Amino acid sequence: MIAVFDLTIGRRLTGGKTVRLDKYIADSGEFSRSEAQKLARRGQVAVDGEIARDPSAHVDENTAEVSVCGRIIKWRRFRYVILNKPSGYVSATEDAGPTVMDLLPPEYTKIGLAPCGRLDRDTVGLLLITNDGATTHRLLSPKSHVRKRYRYTLKAPLSEAGAQAIRAGLDLGDFFTKPAELLPESETSGEIVITEGKFHQIKRMFHAVGTEVASLERVAFGPLTLDPALSRGKWRELSADEIAAITIAPESGVGV
Ligand code: URA
Repeated sequence: MIAVFDLTIGRRLTGGKTVRLDKYIADSGEFSRSEAQKLARRGQVAVDGEIARDPSAHVDENTAEVSVCGRIIKWRRFRYVILNKPSGYVSATEDAGPTVMDLLPPEYTKIGLAPCGRLDRDTVGLLLITNDGATTHRLLSPKSHVRKRYRYTLKAPLSEAGAQAIRAGLDLGDFFTKPAELLPESETSGEIVITEGKFHQIKRMFHAVGTEVASLERVAFGPLTLDPALSRGKWRELSADEIAAITIAPESGVGV
């Protein structure tokens, strides 16, 4: 592909969206921005086959072919990671203790990835982590009604009246829960689907009907499901189909 920018002065030569060369390289997730700058200044970066020493030069997002140390790298505006969260990690980018970001390469924190919503420290399972702020905002908006499915175990049996109350919607003092889907497998285990995401919501719902959660695992978040091949603590990038499923407009069915 022929260069569409004069890289020596960063001047735009044709139409198309552009991105700074050091950002392009950092967005690949393989290098930090300062590493990208050093690599460019050392002459180890090429754009469309030409050495590009100016990290502030602009390249075309879609057409540029950028290589670092002779290897072509792939630019991505956003990254989407699915983590099978283990217990003991906080769903945040910073905390006094371990966070889910500690389970990912450090470059991912540098390019702005953050958890899309929260699981409690002791809750395990599916957590989406991305730097696509608009998608995070939409998936977490109460208006999107994104379905979250959890497997639960309880410390004491759930009564029939308790199950009915959870299905109908409960008064938790500070808010009324929306009707939840409850699929018990035994008196102390099963699955629950909620479309809200208030703090400790499921624990509080079971507590309100006279029992306590012993364990909680999120197995689905909107159209994403926990991949059985992904063991606890492991992560992978979302597939193109999964990205399409979470980035489509809400009216097209996310959360249905
Ligand atoms: N509800 C909870 O109580 N905890 C979670 O982590 C998620 C939902």
